[in-house]
Amino acid sequence: MVDTRISMCKVCPAYCPIEVTIENQRAVKVVGDRSNPLYKGYTCPKGRALPEAHNHPERLLHCQKRQPDGTYVSIPTHQAIEEVSEKLRAIIAEHGPEAVALFPGNGNVNNPINITMEVAFLNALGAGLKRFFSTQTIDQPGKVIAQALHGKWIAGPHPFHESDTWVLVGANPVISKMGLGQNPGQIIKEAVNNGMKLIVIDPRETESAKKACLHLQPQPGQDPTLLAGFLHLIINEQRYDKAFVAENAQGLETLKQAVAPFTPEYVADVTGVDEAKIREAVTIFTQGKRGSLVTGTGPHMALHGTLVEYLALCINTLCGRWVRAGEPNGHPHVLLPDYQPKAQPMAPYKPWDESDPGRLYNLPSTIMGGATGTLADEILTPGKGQVKALICAGSNPMVSLPDQHRTTKAFEALDLLISFDVEMSNTARTAHYVIPDYMGLETPACSQFLEASKYYGLWTQGLEWPYAMYSPAAVPPPAGSDVIQIWDFLYEVARKLDLSLTFYGNAAGTGQHWDKPPQAIELDMDRKPSMEELYEAMCAGSRVPLDEVKQHQHGKIYDDIDHTVLPRDPDCEAYFELADATMMAELAVVHANRGDLPQPDSDYPLLMTPRRTNEVLNSIGRTNPKLGGKKPYNPAYLNPADIARFGVKAGDTVRIRSRFGEVIGIIEAEEKLRAGTLSLSHCFGGNPNEEEDPVAMGCCSSRLLGANPEDIDPIFGQPRMGAVPVSISPL
Ligand code: SF4
Repeated sequence: MVDTRISMCKVCPAYCPIEVTIENQRAVKVVGDRSNPLYKGYTCPKGRALPEAHNHPERLLHCQKRQPDGTYVSIPTHQAIEEVSEKLRAIIAEHGPEAVALFPGNGNVNNPINITMEVAFLNALGAGLKRFFSTQTIDQPGKVIAQALHGKWIAGPHPFHESDTWVLVGANPVISKMGLGQNPGQIIKEAVNNGMKLIVIDPRETESAKKACLHLQPQPGQDPTLLAGFLHLIINEQRYDKAFVAENAQGLETLKQAVAPFTPEYVADVTGVDEAKIREAVTIFTQGKRGSLVTGTGPHMALHGTLVEYLALCINTLCGRWVRAGEPNGHPHVLLPDYQPKAQPMAPYKPWDESDPGRLYNLPSTIMGGATGTLADEILTPGKGQVKALICAGSNPMVSLPDQHRTTKAFEALDLLISFDVEMSNTARTAHYVIPDYMGLETPACSQFLEASKYYGLWTQGLEWPYAMYSPAAVPPPAGSDVIQIWDFLYEVARKLDLSLTFYGNAAGTGQHWDKPPQAIELDMDRKPSMEELYEAMCAGSRVPLDEVKQHQHGKIYDDIDHTVLPRDPDCEAYFELADATMMAELAVVHANRGDLPQPDSDYPLLMTPRRTNEVLNSIGRTNPKLGGKKPYNPAYLNPADIARFGVKAGDTVRIRSRFGEVIGIIEAEEKLRAGTLSLSHCFGGNPNEEEDPVAMGCCSSRLLGANPEDIDPIFGQPRMGAVPVSISPL
């Protein structure tokens, strides 16, 4: 029997609406839903490959328990719940609740209920946010931290589709979507055709850079210097919005002093970008009327990501690039609670607490949770609070954490490692228990998470339109399987440990800049809620009732509910902060050390920088025959001049070394990559105790990265994941 159902792809937070063809309760084909008013049929290859992922012959269908010889046997899920509960009970009794940590990953995006339940579970244990080690603190913690230090504009940034200028700093939305989940390539193309001046700052000519009117290619990691140079010009050439700044910001004079040394000549010399191009970029951006300067993951990976983000926010504020009074709200709510946008900032706040330091390196506790770059040391360092049990929820830290050898040593030292996954991933292959999760088409979906992602920083995802959608599960889990959703497993374990769970509705996100604060909901521990009930709890108090949204299977744009932004309150005392002391001190360090970046030298003459590909999302999709299966490795891209310089050729297998370790990679030429750069995707490769096969599985860039105290941010613990000096040599 053949059927079609409307659903959503949830591989990434773009949440594209899809039409699923179903045969005998199995998804066999996915295409974009052309009847959706916002996405109009857009999907990317990952969405269209969902059937192959769901029906993958190696998909995990039963819980796996590791045996003393390292092999795995299937056990019933109820047995796994029982055994995991007993082991957690014993660990907590001996070492306390802080011995339990949780690492959520992209697999969680499939189901926002999971993330909310994971936080509830840690809170109920008493472990708290300090034991919540997420990928957020290894790729872009700076987005939320910088916003906390700068302040947040209640009415939001200018929507992309209404802008005339836009600057992407190390961001490539054509591939990574960011704020343009609804067909990013087409949206950018239309914007440019309609006259938008798009500027891209990236060492590579990315898919997005190909559409830009101006492309600046700085040395990887030099974004803070480049943006400080932009600020120097904007302030000294009086290119800022004086009335807006006078009314809404403070600290201009201090910022002016801090960026004084970043003259165009100096910035050109340090970043390697022509002075004329720097001036041209500033001229284009400041001559525009609407549009933002936004950062992507790349700049955040080069250690000074928070500073990059902070400087970006300062540029937007100086240029007044926020939605003003009398205009429609830039990010309207539908499944989040209603709020009245105003043309004023929410006050900055301090997003860390020195009085509550973590165990290692004097890192304070921050709103971003545990510093994931230190997770291996949290496991290996004895003493109170040493992590003894780790729950990996849809994550793959064996390839995503820096220094894979140290991660391996740490995981081997754990008393309990649980991995929720859909395949025997690198992390699953080291776990004591592997719990098979549902896949995206097997659970209901709701666009609220997409709206709420605006709470993860400027232009992460979020929705610029008052749009909402809900879809029920499209297919059941495979017949005969014993899969269980992460939230369900944790709920059952909580019940066995006699814990009460407090679930948070209204929003997902972190920090204090809420339009409406999250709402605590005590879960009934005697009667397990259904997933539909949990979605209702998440959407409690939404501007449009979830039941109304459910009436529109193709989603709906609620054009009629737009709010007009009100003027700043006469008694408002909140101001954007342009010169936060921590950020200004970091900027001084960046200047004193000409970018504060390890420079290439004769031993390590290249700088490694990360990249994304359209066929995989981090470590997801690599074995899918329609995706990563077509090219299962991560080439090491070099400029042809560097290929000639090192006496290698495209297709050669080479040894790539950093001061932390080495891997075997395969060279590929990239014509317009900045010379001196080696561009490599993270999250490929095998485990250290496995046979290396650079063609079949790629190379693990994590082995080229370190997480020593000198390689992490001193407050937020973000490790240096990019701009790492490396060398190559033929094998
Ligand atoms: S952009 Fe691709 S992976 Fe992301 S939700 Fe859409 S189809 Fe899925």
